[in-house]
Amino acid sequence: MKIILFDIDGTLVKAGGAGARALDFAVETMTGHKKACDSIQLQGATDKTNFVNAFAAGAGRKPTKRELDTLTRKYVDRLPHEVLRSVKAKKYLKVKGVEKFLDRLAGRKDVLVGLGTGNLKDGAFIKLEPSGLMKHFAFGGYGCDSHHRSEVLQKAVQRAARIARTSIKDGEVFVIGDTHRDVEAAKEAGYHSGVVLDGFGDRALIMRSNPELLARDFSNMKPWLIWLGLEKDPRGVRRGTYICPDSPIEHAHYGRTGLDLRDIELGMRKLREAKRKAAGKK
Ligand SMILES: [Mg+2]
Repeated sequence: MKIILFDIDGTLVKAGGAGARALDFAVETMTGHKKACDSIQLQGATDKTNFVNAFAAGAGRKPTKRELDTLTRKYVDRLPHEVLRSVKAKKYLKVKGVEKFLDRLAGRKDVLVGLGTGNLKDGAFIKLEPSGLMKHFAFGGYGCDSHHRSEVLQKAVQRAARIARTSIKDGEVFVIGDTHRDVEAAKEAGYHSGVVLDGFGDRALIMRSNPELLARDFSNMKPWLIWLGLEKDPRGVRRGTYICPDSPIEHAHYGRTGLDLRDIELGMRKLREAKRKAAGKK
């Protein structure tokens, strides 16, 4: 059994800033402070953490338990309105190719698809509602489960195990997100990690977090399916060494899938051509 956990914001949909506006609204009604979210980093953190930070930005102190509950309620009450505003302004978008990708996964009996998101459960459903993607997600781990993203993911896997009525090994879990925090949480829990670059993540931080798969979006399903082990790489996997004469790099090791290898071969050909040209000009 393979468990695939999707982050929401920037991975499935982009809600056009609806979450931040709803949180700004909630903080403003409680503290009078406008645009609290401008001064905090929302992406990749759980809602719980964001709520505490946004309240603190407005009030100059952390919220009490009761204040946090009120803030949460105000946020959830306001969110549908803000999501609708994004839809009307055509700022609510689905990440490219995600619908077809999910349809494809839905056809597999050996796959369970769920959510692994920092959103509160209520917030997650509200944000996904206009996308029509909700039907694909039978379970999930949510921001209300824990402050820590890795625990959110583990909670999702526990729920998956209950549904599948089997135990699930860490190596069978694949986490798909759009920030380095998704990757770090996946690694912390011992799961696989893949990232879409077209979301809200910081590229340099994503690179540093070193996910197993990087792709712009889901418009090309092939690398995703190969990564998930649901399709074989038509060109197989090759490992070896390139020798790079006359360059500061003596040789480079590679262990790439055949699809990746095409890029390397193309790069090598270009390098050789450039060298030939340079030599001819001398
Ligand atoms: Mg995200």
